[in-house]
Amino acid sequence: MRQTLVAGNWKMNGSRESIKALLDGVKAGAGDVTSAEMAVCCPAVYIADVADQLNGSNIAYGGQDISVHASGAYTGEIAGSMWNDFHCKYVIIGHSERRTYHHETDELVAEKFEVSLNAGLIPLFCIGETLQERESGITEEVVSRQINAVIDRLGVDKLGEGVIAYEPVWAIGTGVTATPEQAQETHAFIRRMIAEKSADVAAKIQILYGGSMNAANASDLLACEDIDGGLIGGASLKADDFLAIGKAAG
Ligand code: PEP
Repeated sequence: MRQTLVAGNWKMNGSRESIKALLDGVKAGAGDVTSAEMAVCCPAVYIADVADQLNGSNIAYGGQDISVHASGAYTGEIAGSMWNDFHCKYVIIGHSERRTYHHETDELVAEKFEVSLNAGLIPLFCIGETLQERESGITEEVVSRQINAVIDRLGVDKLGEGVIAYEPVWAIGTGVTATPEQAQETHAFIRRMIAEKSADVAAKIQILYGGSMNAANASDLLACEDIDGGLIGGASLKADDFLAIGKAAG
């Protein structure tokens, strides 16, 4: 039985004040979320505040990116040991915004997967096709290529130590959600392609859906057999919406 995970990706949003209010709200309602683990991934500068507010709660937290370097002259980068210093559980890697705006390749993302595990963090490994790729009928080819980059570097068992977030790029921040049928079809394909390498890993790996998931559409998406939770952008910035998604699980 795979645990449902509902993780918020705050992206570059918030202030110390707004984050405090948001987490007060999430903590106040988290007791009503009985069937999902909740987590938030915050901008790096707020990690100390988030850790202070969430330590002792059952809400996990983490970062949005990780450096492939351990330390040294890499201005602006955040090492895995730094996230670890704040007891982070998760780190997002390979988000489409980083693949697009920071030109992150499949190989770099696979390296980030490795350094995340080495730092004791669980990578929330984002994959997904663009609209053009979907319309060209190459969705399965694209997600296979992205996943195989990790398997080729680390082996399928290590892939199983992370969490996959299938996020069709055309659904991120657009208000256009994949239908439950579209999402389930791709999630099932991802599980099948992993099963060709390891039935055990395929059975246990959590595959989250991300892309305009909200309070209204979450229950239909989360009811799908191969959807094990959500990576939530916009709707994670409002406590009530985020909690409603958590409550929609199970
Ligand atoms: C995301 O950025 O990971 C995401 C899913 O965003 P949104 O929910 O806003 O589409």
